[in-house]
Amino acid sequence: MSIQELDRQYVAGTYKRFPVEIVSGKGSVVRDAAGKEYIDMGSGIGVTAFGIADDVWQKAVTDQIGRVQHMSNLYYTEPCARLAEMLCRRTGMKKVFFSNSGAEANECAIKAARKYAAETRGAEYSTIVTLKNSFHGRTLTTLAATGQEHYHELYQPLTPGFVHAEPGDLDDVKRLCEENKAAAVMIECIQGEGGVLVQDKDFVCGIARYAQENGILLLVDEVQTGNGRTGALYAYMNYGVEPDVVSTAKGLAGGLPLGATLLGEKVQNVFGYGDHGSTFGGNPVSCAAALSVLSRIDEALLTAVRAKGAWIRAQCEDAPGIEAVSGMGLMLGLKTTKPAAEVVAACLEGGVLCLTAKDKVRLLPALNIPMGTLERAVSVILRCCAPEGNG
Ligand SMILES: *Cc1c(COP(=O)(O)O)cnc(C)c1O
Repeated sequence: MSIQELDRQYVAGTYKRFPVEIVSGKGSVVRDAAGKEYIDMGSGIGVTAFGIADDVWQKAVTDQIGRVQHMSNLYYTEPCARLAEMLCRRTGMKKVFFSNSGAEANECAIKAARKYAAETRGAEYSTIVTLKNSFHGRTLTTLAATGQEHYHELYQPLTPGFVHAEPGDLDDVKRLCEENKAAAVMIECIQGEGGVLVQDKDFVCGIARYAQENGILLLVDEVQTGNGRTGALYAYMNYGVEPDVVSTAKGLAGGLPLGATLLGEKVQNVFGYGDHGSTFGGNPVSCAAALSVLSRIDEALLTAVRAKGAWIRAQCEDAPGIEAVSGMGLMLGLKTTKPAAEVVAACLEGGVLCLTAKDKVRLLPALNIPMGTLERAVSVILRCCAPEGNG
């Protein structure tokens, strides 16, 4: 059987895959089993921050693999401690809990909020207010947090204690907090899976102020927006707010599984021995990879991310077949006249890998995509969006 047939026979059918098997790559170019090359404008859904098999990243990973690939959390390891320090120094947060995915990073954020609220205000303060159209993960609790009904239908009953406010409507957030004895409000500054929708500055700052004044925690889900993606180290930094908890994953380790939940001043000591844990969390190889990734996300790189994002935007705004461009930095959504899925299929044919998010074509290229490669990709995308274009 071919790899595609084997996969269809033996891998659980949760993914509608394109009929392409990726076998290798370098930087922002990947190759399929037939030898065809593609420019990767999705970076594994914002994961391979410095592209495929990047030399610096690879060295950080292989050096650590040759030393110790895993140790239980009963003992100290250097990459975990150094990464926690780096994350705290660069954000002002106080402590970090490491896990393996975005959903787990959010689970930890929710646990921290519930425990903190129970201890400071009473166990009845357990509700987490999230936004409609949000995406927070696939575990039963993070599905409950996700404000999209169609994800909920098959898996009732979900974890109780989640309500969903209208994005952009501060009064709705306040009303839900008051009616439900809220422990926390959890938001994505830019809804990624929801269609690359940027939240208003006034809305985010309004939530932060209201939460602060009412003893409610602000949790920011930076799983997709974090680690340089939007042109700031974390997207909340574009808003000038100070969250109590920040969760991140996707791009953090540049292609290895790692989730991190950053705990601010109020909640820094909410967890004691045995209150939470993870066998793989803080894995030394993932942490060494993340140290390498984060140390390269400096002002120069962030400036380049913003410049490349602005360049893509300038090419796409007013282009035939593109009605609007949303997003920040290298997290962009194109509202196209043709159905997004049709554009993405044409791009694939034309040698460019793109993503969709709801009705948008979503672009999440590697943060260091070379300008020449980006130019080639965008010319294919523009051609595929144009009404007469066929890729
Ligand atoms: C992808 C994503 C998640 C889930 O991350 P997993 O690693 O798939 O568990 C959670 N929140 C946001 C905003 C995401 O984009």
